[in-house]
Amino acid sequence: MKIVTSSTELADGCAFVPTMGALHQGHASLFELARKRSEFVVASIFVNPLQFEDQEELTKYPRTPERDIELAESSGVTHLWLPTYEEIYPAGFPKRSASNLGKIFEGASRSGHFDGVVTVVARLFELVRPKIAIFGEKDFQQLSLIRNLVADLNLDIEIITAPTVREADGLAISSRNVRLNAIAREDARVLYRALSAAAVAPDLKSAQSALQEVAKSQSGFTLDYAEIVDEKDFSKAADTTQNKRAIIAGWLNGVRLIDNMEMKLGATQ
Ligand code: AMP
Repeated sequence: MKIVTSSTELADGCAFVPTMGALHQGHASLFELARKRSEFVVASIFVNPLQFEDQEELTKYPRTPERDIELAESSGVTHLWLPTYEEIYPAGFPKRSASNLGKIFEGASRSGHFDGVVTVVARLFELVRPKIAIFGEKDFQQLSLIRNLVADLNLDIEIITAPTVREADGLAISSRNVRLNAIAREDARVLYRALSAAAVAPDLKSAQSALQEVAKSQSGFTLDYAEIVDEKDFSKAADTTQNKRAIIAGWLNGVRLIDNMEMKLGATQ
């Protein structure tokens, strides 16, 4: 594996996996998927200041460079790119704004977050010029915005999605989980419990109430949102048939956690 700081040293036409580091098994699954599709796998590690609304969150973001190098190498990355701030954001770089989809749910709670995400992803795509890019379902709203970005910019990049990798008790693996204390880690199972209850509910109404009831039953968990939405535009679902998703976010012990799950039963009312 080559470790590079300049995008000029990357392989053209690669499969690309952008990350913010603090790599874990979720990231590894993306690298492995990329390697199945391409001889060259470029992973970037860039903690993008533009997508953090406050400085403290940015400073607190975990950084584990040595472990990241090991995990990337053992999961099939051929080029690990650690860009400089100046390469990503040269003086006068254009900031993008996300569409309306970037202003609801995650975007409503984290003002400017998705503007930062689409800005950095557009710039990374411009520098890497991949043929394929892989993103996790874990950040489902982000995934929809990136699909829109690729369509809007008319980019010839195939977007591949990877399923959410979970701990044994269902908690979605996340770089933020290390910030949970022992009690909060235990309580964090509430997200998966709430989503699972909704996903198998026989109709929309019972799915919505199961989601809310489980989410609100956990002491210490401050619920931000829990909703059943259409996967495409995140409008509130009118039924639980195809392409509907339960989404949830909240805080435990000051740590923001998000998750989502496909609706499984496909009921019309
Ligand atoms: P991040 O480093 O958090 O920006 O995430 C980089 C990529 O890894 C994004 O496409 C995420 O959706 C994906 N990702 C994060 N956690 C997981 C997980 N538990 N399972 C699968 N993909 C994940």
